[in-house]
Amino acid sequence: MNYSFRKKNKIVKYVVLHYTGMKSLTLAYQKLLSEKSNVSAHYLISRDGTIINLLCPSYKAWHSGKSKWKTHSNINDYSIGIELENKGHEFGYSNFTKIQYSSLKKLIDFMKKNFNILDENIIFHSDIAPNRKQDPGEKFFIKKIGVNRFKSIKILKKKYNLNELLIFYGFHKYYLKKHKKSCICAVKRSLNYKSITSLQSKKFLKDFYNLLFH
Ligand SMILES: [Zn+2]
Repeated sequence: MNYSFRKKNKIVKYVVLHYTGMKSLTLAYQKLLSEKSNVSAHYLISRDGTIINLLCPSYKAWHSGKSKWKTHSNINDYSIGIELENKGHEFGYSNFTKIQYSSLKKLIDFMKKNFNILDENIIFHSDIAPNRKQDPGEKFFIKKIGVNRFKSIKILKKKYNLNELLIFYGFHKYYLKKHKKSCICAVKRSLNYKSITSLQSKKFLKDFYNLLFH
């Protein structure tokens, strides 16, 4: 399978959540283990809740691709990648299963303890590559694994404009400059909107504000 050695100055700080986006678990498993695929991940969680450890987190897996978050680039350097079995937007996007959430919660709780991962650092592929990726997508409910990503953000004023909210959320300045519409779509996925468009409504701004500062 594909992997690299971690650099000593780059410490694991993030967990990146994905969906497999493949027609079957077997195909996803084969792809994640194949050297030709140019991808890999540390963990795969099937729809029946089985946790498959593909790579030891002390090695770097290739799950994020070109990616940026906050002030970091190449998020593989700093992260553990977890793939959730789901056919994804291309092949029939479905709800994640109850047992998948419960296995993911166990794994995340283990990560929090062993790697000191903070809730705010459990992130989505769609956050760190909004112009290219949609996963795990709007059918993924992070609350179901007991994670509150934005609990440490403090309210300093009553109103923020969209750009300020997008910065608080964590998008890298490159994406805000070049792919702002994709960033809005990523936030809507995070809010579990059923329809994902880059349109900005008053309701969206209110929901976004509440997501960050509830
Ligand atoms: Zn992904």
